[in-house]
Amino acid sequence: MSAIVIDGRVVARASRDKTAERVREFVRVNGFAPGLATILVGGDPASEVYVRNKRTAAAEAGFVDFHRHLEATASERDVERTIVELAADDTVAGILLQLPLPDGLDRSALIECIPPTKDVDGLTTLSQGRLARGTVGLRPCTPSGIIEMLDFAGIDIAGTNAVVVGRSELVGHPAAELLLRRGATVTISHSQTRDLRSVTSRADILVAAAGIPGLIGAGHVKPGAAVIDVGIHRTENGLVGDVLPEVAEVAGWVTPVPGGVGPMTIATLLSNTIWAAELSIAGGASI
Ligand code: NAD
Repeated sequence: MSAIVIDGRVVARASRDKTAERVREFVRVNGFAPGLATILVGGDPASEVYVRNKRTAAAEAGFVDFHRHLEATASERDVERTIVELAADDTVAGILLQLPLPDGLDRSALIECIPPTKDVDGLTTLSQGRLARGTVGLRPCTPSGIIEMLDFAGIDIAGTNAVVVGRSELVGHPAAELLLRRGATVTISHSQTRDLRSVTSRADILVAAAGIPGLIGAGHVKPGAAVIDVGIHRTENGLVGDVLPEVAEVAGWVTPVPGGVGPMTIATLLSNTIWAAELSIAGGASI
């Protein structure tokens, strides 16, 4: 058996086209284009690539680019000032603070400087609280992209056993929340989980987000399961994920690396940004 490959580039393309259409409509009605602000602190090479890709995709969809690049030596006050300045600009619909931040900067404190109405990465306490409660709000991009891929593949989430490997604020935990909201029975495994294999092999939907290359092999996977690989690792053989290629012989669906979850993260960032822009014009009514 060989798994169906869920092509993130195809799903992302469709999502980005829809967002571009909404941006055109926004400009037609309001007379200005909404902006996406990306803030990069320091020169982490992977972050530079991610930010560049986000800015290129945003510009292609019709957003105005408000990029700020601060030196690695920037103080917390410098970063805070940058966020506050962007937050005060009515044409900036969304603000994204690229993570990780250089040592010495308090990530949680800085994220809280982003107004919840512009929190297009869904990482503020308010956004995460709304996610936990299931009320309307901006959701983290990568987990939302995972759900969109499952929907695209026609996988009925309700009633499944879903296992998320990883419990980070950025990916694992919110992915588990979203799966729970869609009716899955969810298990979160993490670095202290004993016998990972016995947990993952019960999953109908397995989300691998541990950040460990090749952690998930064929023996971890229930035959026919949908396996979503969030991991991204640069190796001398190119990009690889948390899931070994052999998993495709057992699973029902897999996502490639590259070309799986990564493009969906960007597509969801853009759909979050146009939604934030539309809501801001409507007075931020529901968030
Ligand atoms: P993180 O380091 O913050 O979290 C990793 C999680 O994995 C932790 O909760 C930890 O408890 C768990 N873990 C570690 N070892 C484990 C083990 N042996 N068994 C089970 N769980 C274990 O990482 P993150 O920010 O959540 O990112 C995870 C991966 O996803 C990384 O490779 C990252 O590069 C990638 N990522 C990809 C995208 C994308 O768009 N594709 C977006 C964000 C992150």
